[in-house]
Amino acid sequence: MQIAMIGTGYVGLVSGVCLSDFGHDVICVDRDPRKIEALQAGKVPIYEPGLEQLMARNVEAGRLSFTTELSEAVAGAEAVFIAVGTPTRRGDGHADLSYVMAAAEDVAKALNGFTVVVTKSTVPVGTNRKVKQTIAKTNPDADFEVASNPEFLREGAAIDDFMKPDRVVVGVQSQRAAEVMQDIYRPLYLRDFPIVTTDLESAEMIKYAANAFLATKITFINEIAALCERVGADVKEVAKGMGLDGRIGKLFLHAGPGYGGSCFPKDTSALARIGQDHAVPQNIVETVMRVNDGVKTRMVEKLRDLCDGTFNGKTVAVLGVTFKPNTDDMRDAPSLTIVPALVGGGAKVRVVDPQGKREGEALLPGVNWHDDPYKAANKADLLVILTEWNEFRALDLPKLAKRMATPRMADLRNIYSARDARKAGFEAYESVGRKSMDNNH
Ligand code: NAD
Repeated sequence: MQIAMIGTGYVGLVSGVCLSDFGHDVICVDRDPRKIEALQAGKVPIYEPGLEQLMARNVEAGRLSFTTELSEAVAGAEAVFIAVGTPTRRGDGHADLSYVMAAAEDVAKALNGFTVVVTKSTVPVGTNRKVKQTIAKTNPDADFEVASNPEFLREGAAIDDFMKPDRVVVGVQSQRAAEVMQDIYRPLYLRDFPIVTTDLESAEMIKYAANAFLATKITFINEIAALCERVGADVKEVAKGMGLDGRIGKLFLHAGPGYGGSCFPKDTSALARIGQDHAVPQNIVETVMRVNDGVKTRMVEKLRDLCDGTFNGKTVAVLGVTFKPNTDDMRDAPSLTIVPALVGGGAKVRVVDPQGKREGEALLPGVNWHDDPYKAANKADLLVILTEWNEFRALDLPKLAKRMATPRMADLRNIYSARDARKAGFEAYESVGRKSMDNNH
């Protein structure tokens, strides 16, 4: 099948590459000429494990190409996916649909023959109908149907998530569109991956409800973690004991510095606004957003305590600034709250991140970038683990402790333990929701 993918970001590029690997002919479009130039030269402009190799294989097979010319890609396509960004609209917390609607207009002008226009971007309920109206208004002769196909991939594991999804959600209004969607996902369908075919509104809602639920689960355990610290319980043990209950499940019960990233913050915000607009306030989601902001503030206070009450004049080494490991994505990362608080408080901040520098340099002014955690820790007063990259999971703790001016650690991902830290020569160790070291510092 001939497919056009509009937008080659984290979702569009992975989806385009994977669909070409299914055997479809895919043309990926982006309005950013630098991205397209890089892609045409075989370079992936984002960090996503395995993507460059998969892309090369499909380009070589002649199934995958890249262009800035939307009309070229759309004219011959049987399905056009819209996978552009839907960031939070400045000022009111709604999803900004301007990119989706602009893409819909451009697509409308180029449609040629029966086409299914599929919205893959995360969009509020009712958007697919608006896309349909926009296309019909822009090109009254167009022969088309719309479909909603929200994406659930996780950055860092995106290819596996696309190729082996827990489910594919498809919202349609007609059998004709359902059949095209079934053809697109036939390789998954044949391997018994569940395909949920439903109406447009339910498909749109599933995506927001799923993300809000996951954000709630994380925030729940983060709040329990704060209580664990106060009462002397260990949140890792609590999460394990809870998660073994099949009704709860063990995923997304890792206490940490608060959720961030390209989806949860903006999707919870959009869902809260959708609820307000329909006079059905989403109280749980609104509370989750507020509590999550508080978690980040609580982390800053934890670090301040470890610096004897002030960041001023302290040297702090921060390991990891991307919102999670295996991505270069910095959108709404907890580091964007925590690091500026350190810099603003007068600390000298050294940052190490395997992929974060390209994006992070502009977002985290006033820090020094290092490649090596041990050098970054040299004569430092505090070591902070903020993102659990594999590189930071097996650090030589005695070597680190020896280099530091005051060997103190804030392990905000609960990778190590107070026992490990004490044995290695740290004088203070704080994590999230677990006992700190008994020693005073
Ligand atoms: P992104 O910002 O990485 O990429 C969007 C791309 O679209 C950019 O390259 C931009 O240049 C391009 N673009 C914008 N308007 C265009 C137009 N008119 N024509 C051509 N290209 C255009 O965004 P993303 O992270 O890939 O997210 C895309 C959508 O997928 C969002 O709605 C997001 O909520 C959703 N989503 C994201 C993830 C994730 O992990 N990033 C997961 C699931 C769903």
